[in-house]
Amino acid sequence: MARRPSREQPAQGDPRRSLPGVDRLAGALLDGDATLGWAAAVAARAELEAAREAIAGGGPAPAFESLEAAAAARARALVAGRPRRVINATGIVVHTNLGRAPLAAGALDAAGRAAGYSDLEFDLRTGQRGNRLAGTADKLQLLTGAEAAFAVNNNAAALLLAVNTLAAGREVLVSRGELVEIGGSFRIPEILGAAGVRLVEVGTTNRTHPEDYARAVGPETGLILKVHRSNFEQRGFVREVDLGELVALGHKTGLPVLEDVGSGLLLDWREHGWPEESHIAGRLRIGADVVCFSGDKLLGGPQAGLLLGRVDAIAAMRRNPLARAFRLDKLTLAILDWTFSALLDGRAETEIPALRMLREAPERVRARAERLARAFDREAAAAGVASTPRVEACEALVGGGSLPEFRIASWAMVLESTAPSVDRLAARLREAPVPVIARVDRGALWLDARTLADDELDAVATAVASALKAPGG
Ligand SMILES: *Cc1c(COP(=O)(O)O)cnc(C)c1O
Repeated sequence: MARRPSREQPAQGDPRRSLPGVDRLAGALLDGDATLGWAAAVAARAELEAAREAIAGGGPAPAFESLEAAAAARARALVAGRPRRVINATGIVVHTNLGRAPLAAGALDAAGRAAGYSDLEFDLRTGQRGNRLAGTADKLQLLTGAEAAFAVNNNAAALLLAVNTLAAGREVLVSRGELVEIGGSFRIPEILGAAGVRLVEVGTTNRTHPEDYARAVGPETGLILKVHRSNFEQRGFVREVDLGELVALGHKTGLPVLEDVGSGLLLDWREHGWPEESHIAGRLRIGADVVCFSGDKLLGGPQAGLLLGRVDAIAAMRRNPLARAFRLDKLTLAILDWTFSALLDGRAETEIPALRMLREAPERVRARAERLARAFDREAAAAGVASTPRVEACEALVGGGSLPEFRIASWAMVLESTAPSVDRLAARLREAPVPVIARVDRGALWLDARTLADDELDAVATAVASALKAPGG
């Protein structure tokens, strides 16, 4: 909690004395825009508090006009609500900071249908209590060939649930090369600690051999865990034990093998050059007892954690009290179910936005980048700004902390600018009515057409033209 502001009166001559009162600043905001309502006073108070802190840190007292402008922006953001829609021109398809996979229109309709009363946990045939995941889990099994399936809130919860169910109070073997931090404070050793198991580190950072695992197995061992590195790659003198080798050891020792795949793909894109290790059905075929992965990465669906594997292992997870703590809400469940149906119907690559973006042919992306450049030329001419963008080949990324080395051929509209600077331009784009998030690279502004939708091009063109025109360097 923030400390309460001091009620002490600043001394004579203290620049804090020149700050306006909350009522005066809030009143000015409401005179400018009466629709700000309750947000005017909240924003005024926050802005004055920030100004007092800046002054206490040795800064000058801000002018009334700049306080008013900053407070007005703060109030407008409050009224607009969060999360705010943005336009993703970064070329990072599953952008973690921008909400990962964008949801399909059909998925939102499904969520709308589930928003009121539904048969969420009601069996319409018997009139008795029903299972929240009935039907949805069946679709996931159909898609992957898994014996059983379960779903929770996110993949961190899925991993915690699986490890706790399979090995509570016992030892879990993990390669030192896989003790990763995924970002957003997800670290394997800490998750294992929270799951109530003891981590046994196997091998070295760069090299782990099958014998290392075999030697680490003891009477206390409960589980062999493999974690996809997701956000980095190792090169040089490296040796990783692959899933097949771990499965063989599991069979020999009677230990279950769990793989955290991270970003799992339910479609088989291996023939298009996509990595083997993302393909979920393939991981099960190799013989993992359980695999887990995220719903909002390469699956293209809602935030969720999917668990697939042996019937007994999955049934034990369902019975674990943590499963209740991690359970999916009805809107997520509806979106997940819609996503699985789209995959089963063969509509996924046209209807699920992330999958469509990842697979769109480069020529089509190039055509969109060219349409963006033409729209920009029109806007720039109308605004009287002289700027000649290029359309250039570039590389888009999957994102979501997955497949860091996997590049997708893409095209971007590229702008160079000195006044305003490219960084200033990118900052102004973030202040557009619908903020545009661009990439700054090699001294230029890149607007990658792979993550842009056709109906966003005019808004991007307008935002770039007005960012170039705005006064100030
Ligand atoms: C992304 C990721 C996670 C975390 O998944 P969330 O759905 O964000 O909780 C866990 N493990 C791996 C390997 C990942 O890539």
